[in-house]
Formats: sequence, structure tokens, C-alpha cells
Amino acid sequence: MNTVDEIKDRLNIVDVVSEYLPVRKSGSNYKAACPFHKEKTPSFVVNLERQSWRCFGACATGGDIFSFIMRIENLEFGEALRLLAEKTGVTVRDRSINDSSEPLYKVNLEATNFYQKVLNTTEGLKASSYLKERGVDHKTISNFQLGMSPSGGIRLKEHLSSLGFDLDLVIKAGLLRKTDSGIIKDFFWNRLMFPIHDSKGRVTGFGGRSLDNSNPKYINTSSTPVFDKRTTLYGLHMSSASIAKENRAIVVEGYMDAITAHQFGYCNVVASMGTALTEQQVQNLKSSA
Ligand code: ZN
Repeated sequence: MNTVDEIKDRLNIVDVVSEYLPVRKSGSNYKAACPFHKEKTPSFVVNLERQSWRCFGACATGGDIFSFIMRIENLEFGEALRLLAEKTGVTVRDRSINDSSEPLYKVNLEATNFYQKVLNTTEGLKASSYLKERGVDHKTISNFQLGMSPSGGIRLKEHLSSLGFDLDLVIKAGLLRKTDSGIIKDFFWNRLMFPIHDSKGRVTGFGGRSLDNSNPKYINTSSTPVFDKRTTLYGLHMSSASIAKENRAIVVEGYMDAITAHQFGYCNVVASMGTALTEQQVQNLKSSA
């Protein structure tokens, strides 16, 4: 059983909600005045059997014990997880909130900045004209922190070395790789870069699209202590508020599909990054919305 399920198993949503607002039994459910909008007639319903809540009034949204805590305490998912874990005595094993991962986030962020800078130079023209061709505007490029990895195979390595990053850490982050002959090279080069974020907005990995018809067309960061393609949904950090509000998520296949949807105002769209949707991705989607 994972941490999320373990917590859900030990807590009763009615008890947790009752700590914040007076609920009264109504048939097989429990009712209260919705804490998320102003109302006189209670339309906030807690379902004991399903361990869920829903506002049938102005909010027209609902969720589980985690989304309730996130909204009422105004917390990110990881913080809500910690709060509920403390209540239940469940040990949080979620590696995404493990502090030893901090250096990996830091190096990923630095690489994101580097790729963004390259995109805005003449070297980035190939990537920027591709984005222009696909109708992606400046605001979207900036919102999704799109970039370009330069050619040459050692440019990111040199840049990060100059900033004092330990190369073993950069290899661990999946940004560099050691060749069979022991030479350390950039993992991504001459590609349009898509930073991939967790639900807290931290960069955990990257996707890169080739710009010269070389194969494979798309490559991703390999698994690292903070990145696993099978559990990640692209664009989730930009979508979770909208998904929670609409209580609906749309999962598309690729980065460009998600980006285009957001640009046209469909903000509850995430991408599965070319894999079939996994159970972990669905779990991630449910707990962050
Ligand atoms: Zn409401």
C-alpha cells in the first residue's frame, strides 16, 4: 500500500472535515455549509462510504481527503500529505518530498535557465521557428519554460561546471551521460527542450524533440531519484487548480498537444508523454487535483 492509500485507510473523512466545520447527518451522507463559497443553504456533502466531498453549490467541485486539506489549509499536495501523515502516524516515504533531492532540483532549474537562454539566441532559431510554425506564442513559451539544448555535446556540461556543480550530481540528474570510453557528454543536444515539473512546480526532468529529423524524435530524461516517466504527467503543475475547479482532467499524448490546449485556455489538460496512461499517473492526477 502506498503512503496516500495508507493515510486514507486510517482516516475518516467525516472526522477530518468536522475539525473544520460543523457537519450534520443527512440520510446516508453528511452536510455542511460549504467552506469554499458563501451560502445559507448547506450544499457541501461528505460521503462516508466513498470518503469523498463535493460542493453541489457554486463551487461544483469535490475530491478526497487530500484535496479537502489542500484547499482549506491552502497547502501544496506534499504539505497536505505531511500534515495528514502526522495525524495518522504514517511514515512518509514519498521521495518527491525528500530533502536530499534538493540538489537535483537545483541543477535541473539551472539547466532550464540555460536552455531558455539558448532559445533566445541565433543558435536557438531552429527551435524558435519550429515553435512559431506550430503557433506557440511568447507567453506560452515562457510559461512552460521551453528552451533549446545547443549542439556540440558538452555545452551544458561546461556551463554547469563553471557554476561549480559536481558532475556526478549532474549525471545523477540525467543531464549528462558517461560514454563507454568514459567521456562525459551532454544527454540532450540540438533539441527543443521541454522541462517537466512535479505538482509543486519543481523541474524533475526534460523531454527533448529533435530539430533535424534525427531519431528518436523525442527523448526523455531516464529515471532519476526525482523523475519517473511512468508516474509523471506533463503540465500538471499548470493544470491542478483548473482540474480541481472543473473536477475533470483531459489527458493528451504529447507535450505540444498540452501546450497548445493551455494556450487556447483549456487549462485542465495534461500529457502522458507518449506512454499509455499508467495507474500511478492516475493516482498522481487524483491526488494533486
Ligand atoms: Zn462551495
